[in-house]
Amino acid sequence: YMAKEAGRGRARLFEPVYAQAVDERLDLGRHLRRAVEAGALEAHYQPQVDLRTGRVTGFEALLRWTHPERGPISPAEFIPIAESSGLIVDLGLWVLREACRQGRAWLDAGLPPRFVSVNVSPAQIWSVDFDTAVAAVLAETGFPSRLLCLELTESLFVDHTEQRISRTLMALSGLGVRLALDDFGSGYSSLGYLTRLPFDWLKVDRAFVDGISTTAEKRKLLGGIIALSHGLGMTVVAEGAELPAEVVVLGSLDCALVQGFVFSPPLAADEAPLVAASIEREAFRMQPKRNRL
Ligand code: C2E
Ligand code: MG
Ligand code: MG
Ligand code: MG
Repeated sequence: YMAKEAGRGRARLFEPVYAQAVDERLDLGRHLRRAVEAGALEAHYQPQVDLRTGRVTGFEALLRWTHPERGPISPAEFIPIAESSGLIVDLGLWVLREACRQGRAWLDAGLPPRFVSVNVSPAQIWSVDFDTAVAAVLAETGFPSRLLCLELTESLFVDHTEQRISRTLMALSGLGVRLALDDFGSGYSSLGYLTRLPFDWLKVDRAFVDGISTTAEKRKLLGGIIALSHGLGMTVVAEGAELPAEVVVLGSLDCALVQGFVFSPPLAADEAPLVAASIEREAFRMQPKRNRL
């Protein structure tokens, strides 16, 4: 009797809450489309630091949306909405063009050549002629293909044959751009994919970095992943390092690149080169004291 009552109570509660969530999603979706059209989205840039040289070798472009009433909305919330509504194809192309345009502007301003990484959703990759669209953006913006990195997640592997994935990645790789496997280890990683697909970089998920300065087991696991990646000729990027102690461990594990709040959060385009310069100055200052950084 009690369980039945509780069950009914839950069902009654559940429906309006669910309906409200759907309403909010639709509403956000509509606002997002308008925001894209009105140019109300912005790309921010997070530095990636080479631990051996202390140089900022690149930036990851990350979308930022400030909603007129709700304030800043996380891409973790609006990207899935853009993906399920199909808006991601236009939105993704916008980010790609914006990031390449910005990268070209930095080169023209005399800044050192740095990679620009752009996140790409599976729906974009599977839209017709994605590689042609990338080539067109590179030509239009004049950003060198060798400085562009496309970040793809493991969700790419859902619903497609390895042959199809391989063909698509080869076409992209053929343009001269780098390919990164993003969020490695957060999903159902198949090591087989790593040996067979043309990924240049492996971005190790934050979950593997968190705790490495205090837990020996986590250190061993990450060390193993890094050694494996090197064996396969890939460059490892550690995501989400927040503590200086983590950077020290990452250096000792031979991790090449680090991206995380410990160096900088994502930055507006006009701030990014200034912060990059200060990260490099700081690394230089630290050099005599420590071997790495
Ligand atoms: P991601 O590609 O894995 O990007 C890294 C995320 O980690 C970013 O979150 C970044 O701000 C955050 N992060 C970096 N360092 C740290 C750290 O030290 N600690 C913590 N706690 N977080 C850190 P953000 O900007 O909120 O983006 C979330 C996700 O949204 C991205 O994860 C990516 O999957 C997606 N996203 C963002 N921009 C785009 C885009 O232009 N296109 C697509 N398709 N997805 C995007
Ligand atoms: Mg990414
Ligand atoms: Mg990631
Ligand atoms: Mg992610």
